[in-house]
Amino acid sequence: MNGTAKQTGVALVTGGSRGIGRGIAVELGRQGWKVVINYASNADAAKEAVGLIEQAGGQAAAVQADLSQTAQRKYMLDFAVERFGTLTALVNNAGVAPQKRADLLEMGEESFDRVLDVNLKGPFFLTQQAARRMIQLRKEGKLDRGYIVNITSISVYTASINRGEYCIAKAGLGMVTALFAARLAEENILAYEIRPGVIATDMTSGVKEKYDKLIDGGLTPIKRWGTPEDIGLAVGAILRGSFPFSTGAVFDVDGGFHLRTL
Ligand code: NAP
Repeated sequence: MNGTAKQTGVALVTGGSRGIGRGIAVELGRQGWKVVINYASNADAAKEAVGLIEQAGGQAAAVQADLSQTAQRKYMLDFAVERFGTLTALVNNAGVAPQKRADLLEMGEESFDRVLDVNLKGPFFLTQQAARRMIQLRKEGKLDRGYIVNITSISVYTASINRGEYCIAKAGLGMVTALFAARLAEENILAYEIRPGVIATDMTSGVKEKYDKLIDGGLTPIKRWGTPEDIGLAVGAILRGSFPFSTGAVFDVDGGFHLRTL
């Protein structure tokens, strides 16, 4: 924990039961982290994810909690600290897409509120609470360095006019990373942002054909779908402690989508 690339500890991964979150949780488990897998409702998927980590010799526990609800955010943090004794890293991964892709001129307030609550307000206040705990844990000698990792999206800067609420939430979460990075450096808590590109998960299964064609047509210099493992490796590299003089840094894990070419 002195800046060499060896760190492990206790990581809470929101939405760690499926998709990208599972990829992150499994990679951290493989690295020797104790992993708390949060999920919203799909208990079977969460159990499976815990099983995968345990089979690989790691330790994990699942906690059901809706991160858009104040009391449930507190519950998942209490659970993590009680189960494993500290909290080293919070990975804000859970997120939802709009239930219906609606044109910007038709998007309703209900969808705006739902997406913003889960993808922005929830992670903001969860991070605030987690940071307070980490500061307390450091005072008690139970934590050296803490980490916040936010899983945003290429939607931070890519305007998709049929899911504006998602783009707004992700752009906001990018600023959440910057704010906590600036505030928490003096507490020895580092914050990072990962921007995944097009990743094969349940979230993108409904637009598979559309994206297959776009990728074939050159959407990304690296011509393939991203995988949850790709994101897991990136989070694993950060939490291993490889970037001790970086905070607020953004990692594009997107097959080169962000490049402008001519
Ligand atoms: P996914 O396959 O739909 O999985 C979503 C996960 O989040 C599940 O574990 C789900 O739990 C959990 N979740 C949803 N709402 C929650 C809530 N209110 N409280 C707690 N957990 C909740 O999604 P994904 O594709 O892996 O996406 C993960 C993150 O990456 C999201 O933030 C997404 O915006 C972002 N992202 C995805 C892509 C992509 O191409 N897939 C690209 C860029 C960024 P249950 O299993 O219980 O439902």
